[in-house]
Amino acid sequence: MKNNESLKRAVILCSGVVQGIGFRPFVYRIAVKYGLVGYVLNLGDAGVKIIVEGQKSRILKFIDSLKNDKPPLAYYSELVINWEEYTGEFDKFEVKPSDKSLKSKGVSYIPPDIALCDKCKHELFDPNDRRYMYPFIVCSHCGPRFTVIEELPYDRERTSMRDFPMCEECYSEYTNPLDRRYHAEPICCPKCGPRMILYEKNGEIIDVKDPIREAAKLIEEGYIVAIKGIGGTHLATKTTDDDPIILLRKRRRRPQRPFAIMAKNIETIRSFAVLDKVEEELLLSYRRPIVILKKKIPFPLSEHLAPGLDTIGVMLPYSGIHEILMHYTKDPALVMTSGNYPGEPMAITNEEAFKQLKNIADYFLLHNRRIVNRNDDSVVKIIDGKTVFLRRSRGYVPEPIEIPFFRNDDTTILALGPELNVTFTILKGKHAYISQHIGDVENLEMINFLENAIDNFKKVIVAREIHAVVSDAHPVFYTTRLAEKISNELSIPHYTIQHHHAHVVSLLGEYGISPEEEVVAISADGFGLGDDGNAWGGEIFIASYTQYKRVGHLKYVPMPGGDLATKYPIRMVAGLLSEILSYDELREILSLYKSSFKYGEKEIDIVIKQIRSRINTPMTSSLGRFLDAVSTILGICDLRTYEGEPAIKLEAAGCTGKIKNDILNNLEIIINSNDGIILDTPQLLYEVLELKNNGENIHDIAATLQHVIGEKIGEIAIQIARENDISRVLFTGGVAYNSIITRAIRKIVTKNNLTFITHQKVPPGDGGISFGQAIYGKMIYKDDN
Ligand SMILES: [Zn+2]
Ligand SMILES: [Zn+2]
Ligand SMILES: [Zn+2]
Repeated sequence: MKNNESLKRAVILCSGVVQGIGFRPFVYRIAVKYGLVGYVLNLGDAGVKIIVEGQKSRILKFIDSLKNDKPPLAYYSELVINWEEYTGEFDKFEVKPSDKSLKSKGVSYIPPDIALCDKCKHELFDPNDRRYMYPFIVCSHCGPRFTVIEELPYDRERTSMRDFPMCEECYSEYTNPLDRRYHAEPICCPKCGPRMILYEKNGEIIDVKDPIREAAKLIEEGYIVAIKGIGGTHLATKTTDDDPIILLRKRRRRPQRPFAIMAKNIETIRSFAVLDKVEEELLLSYRRPIVILKKKIPFPLSEHLAPGLDTIGVMLPYSGIHEILMHYTKDPALVMTSGNYPGEPMAITNEEAFKQLKNIADYFLLHNRRIVNRNDDSVVKIIDGKTVFLRRSRGYVPEPIEIPFFRNDDTTILALGPELNVTFTILKGKHAYISQHIGDVENLEMINFLENAIDNFKKVIVAREIHAVVSDAHPVFYTTRLAEKISNELSIPHYTIQHHHAHVVSLLGEYGISPEEEVVAISADGFGLGDDGNAWGGEIFIASYTQYKRVGHLKYVPMPGGDLATKYPIRMVAGLLSEILSYDELREILSLYKSSFKYGEKEIDIVIKQIRSRINTPMTSSLGRFLDAVSTILGICDLRTYEGEPAIKLEAAGCTGKIKNDILNNLEIIINSNDGIILDTPQLLYEVLELKNNGENIHDIAATLQHVIGEKIGEIAIQIARENDISRVLFTGGVAYNSIITRAIRKIVTKNNLTFITHQKVPPGDGGISFGQAIYGKMIYKDDN
């Protein structure tokens, strides 16, 4: 070196998403480019450490490039640069083995699972490439991450790829700094990597040269094939033929629930669905979620895919397995629904797949790579111009959400969610890590899965100690009892939070709204235990993170038979109308709907008796239940076979109807009472019945009713905001998936110069509850300690 004065050493700690996205190779390339020596290595907390020595001006250029030319998926939460004296200890730049014990300064996390990149896809279909038609092809920019990782730092030996020692060729790519697969941890090839195997349902191997091609052929012939992929197992059938779908519904015991489908490409999607620019970008993004799209009319695929709905959930292939499968498929799309038996988590091991799906699938296309973290497909829908999560899982987990006003301390809170659609959340310092979709935790299998998932997740995000655990206020939920158990075992506090307040906190936290601010919050869903012991679900609060006052709600109505009224919404019709009709009048109307009762006419008397005596008849203010009742009275859906079905079908009916100004609009249904502002839903339902009897178009009634509900709730929120000098109105809970209601509230609220806020990063439904619980837990913990 000519000028010793300008020789320096820089020690750089990178935090954020810097492992598992081709970051070290990138650092290597720019260090070599600027003639610097030193090393780069992965740290135990998903951060990266770099030491470079050389001319100061070159180090500065290196840092510039580090900031500006980073790989597309890299993200810095922090970049700490320390200048030190030049030592001359290095003679080259290298990638050093990871150091588990070292930590970076900021918060780091591994990226979610990344869809196959374009370069890999090109090689996959290039007959001259050595990975031609090899389903596990990946590079340092793509492939599974969260689903294969056991613990940090992210290296092959701590992923399920450790079962497959690299062959010589792969090793030379892995160690060649100029190769795209330099340090690509899941690197493999047909010689050394995992492979697909096709099985009969009795577990016998079917010896074929190309198992995926054979599976595609079997699907084409009308069979149901279980296909193990990245985060779990799907059940696949044709989409152009009714019979295999009907059969799958029968075997899967899913008479009505919509099935997601995987399409070949964007062009094929256009042949059966309508999509805009935002939806197209979502479908093509490396996250590859299922996007809920409007069906094209007429719909060229089977109507049995999504019966009674105007929409269909569609995704594009996201791994080599799926690319090859779709390549050999003649249909424009295949059913790709989660392969699990009702009440059990999706199968991830081959043994589970055979055990759970032996009476559902005809053939099994499996592979021999372990799935470490089960991860269902994510589901999103564009509502009122905004992206909304129905399920936030593959492609998003474990990305954290930052809560800006929390300190980045060591306090770690675990929140377990409610009972249905559960996710859990670990809040570490100011970062909330929402887990993958767990499902309905209603039995021991699911609680086991939840416990295992928590253990694995703690390793992946390096959460060693938990300081408090939070659950729903419902005392008998499995998750509440698990929270109690964890609290006892670890001797840590267990906090509970009311269900609808947790929904609200989730939305407050998503926007980082100040803890000092009060908002008006509409929290509407199917069910959550209220403070008065009733079943809440149509609530209007004045709320902050730690407090809420219930200032309005839907009128309490009897729910004869409790849960039975959820499954058979005609019982909700009875409960609602019993508020304004005599029992004789009620009996007369219900007789017209006797086929909607499970036991027909004789059940009507029982239901009326239940309402009279209030035996096994809780009171509810649920908007979800009210929408179910409307759906039944309009003849749209009178049996709930999946969560939200009657209300979802009511929305679908409304989407094809007209909102009319001359019906349902002159009703005095907002009542100021000692119990707050009440929305008189029985009156509204009665009007709907009258309209139907007068021959009004069902779709128009559906559209108008949902619009009016949104307007009225909006009016109540506006009144409360005015009286209390509040500027923001929030809308959360499962009903926020309803596009007609959401649009109506937004319109009226913004017209009145108030700000309207809905979820965009966290699911509005119960999948978002744990996020709210965790934030509440940290607030309380902070005050306690
Ligand atoms: Zn790639
Ligand atoms: Zn190999
Ligand atoms: Zn809820």
